Amino acid sequence: MSDTKGGLKYSLNISDKCEGCGICCVQYMDYFEELDDGRAKAKNKVVVLSGEEVEKIVQLCPCGAISCEESKKNTKQQFMRLLETLETYRAKYPEKKQLAFRSDEYFISIPFASGENRYDYSSDSAANNAAGREFNNKMFSQINVYILKILTEYRIKYMKPYYSEREDENSYYVKCNKELSQILSEAADLLKSEGLGGSIPADFSKVAVFPNDDLVWKMLCNGEVMSSEMVSAIRSEYDSGPCSSVNDYECYWDTDYTEVYAGTSFGRDKYKDKYCYSNMREAFQELARDILSACHYRDDEIEERAIDLLKGIIDVYNQKLKNVLAPKISYMKKMAGQLAD
Ligand code: SF4
Repeated sequence: MSDTKGGLKYSLNISDKCEGCGICCVQYMDYFEELDDGRAKAKNKVVVLSGEEVEKIVQLCPCGAISCEESKKNTKQQFMRLLETLETYRAKYPEKKQLAFRSDEYFISIPFASGENRYDYSSDSAANNAAGREFNNKMFSQINVYILKILTEYRIKYMKPYYSEREDENSYYVKCNKELSQILSEAADLLKSEGLGGSIPADFSKVAVFPNDDLVWKMLCNGEVMSSEMVSAIRSEYDSGPCSSVNDYECYWDTDYTEVYAGTSFGRDKYKDKYCYSNMREAFQELARDILSACHYRDDEIEERAIDLLKGIIDVYNQKLKNVLAPKISYMKKMAGQLAD
């Protein structure tokens, strides 16, 4: 934000009338920025403007959403409030409801049973055994893989913002850093409005803290910790359920037989019974429901484990942040003494 000389302090406000046309953000990028929903937001609570500028800014908005009020607040009080916010700032832990595991958000794709409806078997039990083998090969033997896939989706959807890379705008830390940069910018603007902007360090408003050297952060990036531990917990939940072996799913598929021509003997055609299996889809679907149900029964454990892991990363962020903010806070304390009461 520029140091406007000869102006008065104003607070810029944007009302609900804003329709997100973006004109103010383009024309006055020092004062306005775009929110995630496309609407505009004033970057700083207090700015110094001339009467002419106030008029131009207010009239710029086609929706009449921008208002400018002369700020009557005491600069020092505002400055001290910002200082206090910085001194007590801690990135918050996520709440359990933010990391809620809902099994109905996950989808298990049902495999294709390629051996169905082939009258290749000489007995009902041979067809039944072949169905069991197909059930096992296509899905049952992959239960842990399905669980891992669900947990991976959960991790990426709900936990990723807490261990995402610097450039990722969804990063929780990018949001915290932005919030802090905003507070520091406001403090800098207040100093400038009192003619004390000359000594502000160049990187005063910059905050770029990431706990990306934390071991858990790195392990989560590699798909470790959360997934490997929870797969075995969910698998044991599944194993303790009513269906936990291939045989338990037998009732979902069918077997059938038909007479098949088997050559001629003494001038007469001979036939014999041949068997097949079918309706494997129902068995696969039942297994998918059982896997999701096992995940559902362990939802508390999934959420608690996720929170525990993220708390540790956020603690590292707060510690690193403290070190980064310390010189800025001490500069602000020094400057506070120069502001008139
Ligand atoms: S000019 Fe008005 S409507 Fe357009 S983004 Fe700014 S405040 Fe919203």
